[in-house]
Amino acid sequence: MVDTYFNEEHRLFRESLSDFLQKEVVPHVDDWEKTGVIDRSIWNKFGEMGYFGLLYPEAYGGLDLDFFYTVILLEELQRVNSGGFAAAMWAHVYLAMTHLNAEGDERIKNEYLAPSIMGDKIGCLCITEPFGGSDVAGMRSSAVKMDDHYVLNGSKTFITNGFYSDYLVVSAKTQPELGNKGISIFLVDRDTPGVTATKLDKLGWRASDTAEIAFDNVKLPLENLMGEENKGFSYLMQHLDLERLVMGINAHARAEHALQYTMDYMKERTAFGKSLDTFQALRHTMVELTSEMEMCKSYNYIVANQLNQGIYSVKEATISKMMSTKMADKVIDGCLQMLGGYGYMEEYPLARMLRDSRLGRIGGGTSEILKEILAKIMIDKKSFAPVPQS
Ligand SMILES: Cc1cc2nc3c(=O)[nH]c(=O)nc-3n(C[C@H](O)[C@H](O)[C@H](O)COP(=O)(O)OP(=O)(O)OC[C@H]3O[C@@H](n4cnc5c(N)ncnc54)[C@H](O)[C@@H]3O)c2cc1C
Repeated sequence: MVDTYFNEEHRLFRESLSDFLQKEVVPHVDDWEKTGVIDRSIWNKFGEMGYFGLLYPEAYGGLDLDFFYTVILLEELQRVNSGGFAAAMWAHVYLAMTHLNAEGDERIKNEYLAPSIMGDKIGCLCITEPFGGSDVAGMRSSAVKMDDHYVLNGSKTFITNGFYSDYLVVSAKTQPELGNKGISIFLVDRDTPGVTATKLDKLGWRASDTAEIAFDNVKLPLENLMGEENKGFSYLMQHLDLERLVMGINAHARAEHALQYTMDYMKERTAFGKSLDTFQALRHTMVELTSEMEMCKSYNYIVANQLNQGIYSVKEATISKMMSTKMADKVIDGCLQMLGGYGYMEEYPLARMLRDSRLGRIGGGTSEILKEILAKIMIDKKSFAPVPQS
């Protein structure tokens, strides 16, 4: 396909990023997958290279580049084949930091966004609660305003970077009687008294720390409120859009990586005296899987281009995540089949890819919830508008 989105500078960036990942990340990934701990030094190296600042303003150390640099970062991260490592990085940049940049005031940007861009501070975004993740408006965490501070109580779960991060962007009800119109978001320092975290064990994303977090009478200065009080739900929904496209891009990239690996494998592996890639049944399967991946990839680039132009794309980003994550699971499962028993072995990359991919249809809005949103848009003709920035 003709490459209409990437210019020479993008291509050079991809090359140098790929070299960096091969040198600094790939040799350590198996260790990080085993221990569930990513070396702190890699965060600083990412910061030094500017990778956390691609989308962010120069005033805070960012590079303020177009969205296709972000597409490249996400795609290359998937080629490392550790969904957990990739998630730790993109949750920091595209979940936590998005809020610092959009809703943080000057102090928050200087004290948290700038060090986040440098990799000196790591962030996480805490929305999901043990009582329910899909029903965001039903959250129970509360922040009660006193004279000169808020008191935060409640718990969050399944939080990416929830154990090792330095700060948390936390949603809580400031006026519970208003339902989703009574939610606000706060910046919480990890070492604030009353914040505790427990690391969770999980099927995939094993290099990333996923945690349950408890807030027990946590005293927050008033200035840690981000944006306006009670506007938190709109802020969360607005940025979930970016998260969804990020997860759509991740999905096409990991599927593409799986297909490339598998095609190479099929050239080398023989059965009945012929290489696997000569069997018609297998060739047709690979052609179908590749075509499905290409359809999603092209669609995701169209949505990325819309975001690049500042077009609010809730419908398209939701479609991107819903279709691409489904496609990725299908493609990776199909690729694993091509490897026979080796596909099931940890020594080969498909086993990890399969379990890492499965999170795609759950995190950042399950496929069922995405269909609910799309039904409202496509059938009920509901429109979603961005929140005006104050
Ligand atoms: C590894 C991992 C990392 C994560 N990282 C983060 C993070 O960084 N920050 C964060 O806030 N959250 C995070 N999450 C949480 C994730 O976003 C939630 O798990 C997800 O939104 C679903 O919520 P739930 O698990 O409570 O499922 P539930 O809401 O209990 O849903 C259970 C099932 O019911 C279905 N369902 C629910 N309501 C409806 C409905 N109305 N119609 C049809 N079906 C419905 C769901 O689709 C699902 O299949 C992470 C999760 C995982 C597993």
